[in-house]
Amino acid sequence: MFHPSRLLRDSLLGLYLFVLTPPPSLAATPIVSIVIDDLGNNLRDGRQVLALPAPIALAVLPHTAYSRELAEEASRAGREVLLHLPMDAENDAEVEPGPGRLELDMSALEMQTMLAYDLETVPHAIGVNNHMGSRFTQSNAGMETMLHALKQRRGEHGALFFLDSRTSPHSVAARVATKLGVPLLERDVFLDNERGEEAVRHSIERAERLLGMRGQAIVIGHPHPETLAALERWLPSLAARGIRVVPLSVMLAQRQSLERHADADRPAPTRPGL
Ligand SMILES: [Zn+2]
Repeated sequence: MFHPSRLLRDSLLGLYLFVLTPPPSLAATPIVSIVIDDLGNNLRDGRQVLALPAPIALAVLPHTAYSRELAEEASRAGREVLLHLPMDAENDAEVEPGPGRLELDMSALEMQTMLAYDLETVPHAIGVNNHMGSRFTQSNAGMETMLHALKQRRGEHGALFFLDSRTSPHSVAARVATKLGVPLLERDVFLDNERGEEAVRHSIERAERLLGMRGQAIVIGHPHPETLAALERWLPSLAARGIRVVPLSVMLAQRQSLERHADADRPAPTRPGL
C-alpha cells in the first residue's frame, strides 16, 4: 500500500543524511601530490629533490646522462619515478624536446618501440608525464596510439598511468584515456611556468586555493633554485596544517575511489515501459 507519510519520512531521512554526509573529497584530509620535471641531466638537481622532506615524485627525461642512475637512486629512497616523455610541441622549431621524443607522424609500431626504449632508460617508472607535448596531446589519433602503447606495457607495480602535464588547454588526454581505460591524472598547477620567486609564490597560493576548495591538488615544478627554495618553505607549513603530501599512486587510488563512489551514487538508468 502507498503511504504518503512513509514516503515523506524516507525523503526527509535521505535529505538529512545527504546534508550530514559531506562529499568524500572534502571529508578526507586535504592531499597534494608534487612532481619535479625535467630531471636526469645532472645529479645535483635530482639529489636536491630527493633531499626535500616529502614524497615528491621525480619525472626523469629518457636518455640523459643520469636517467638511469637517478631513477635507481630515487627508487632506493622510496620515491616514485615517472618517465618524463618528450612529445611534439607547438613551438618545436624554437625548443628541442630532446631524445626519445614521440612524434605525431610515427607509426604505431614506431611509437611503441620508442616508448619501450625510453622506459628502459628510466627504470622503476610507475607512470608517464609529457615533457612539452602541446601539439601531441591535442591529437586524438596520436594520444590513442600512445596511450594504447602505454596500456600494453606494465611497470613493476602494474598498469602505468598517464599524468597529463596539460601543456595545452586543448589536450584530449583525459577523453582518450577514459575511452581506453588507461589510469589518468592531470596537473592542476605549474609552480614555475613563469620564473622568479614572486611567480612561484602566486602559484603556491593557487594550489592552496584548490586545496581549500577541493581538498586535492597535483602540482608540477622544475628544479629551479627558486622553486626548490619555495618548496622547502611550503612543505613544513603544509604539514603544520595537517595537509598531506602524498605519492601520485595514493592520489590516483583516491581519485579512482571517488569515481567509484560517484558511479554508485548515480541513479540507475530508467527503463522506459517498466
Ligand atoms: Zn618537461
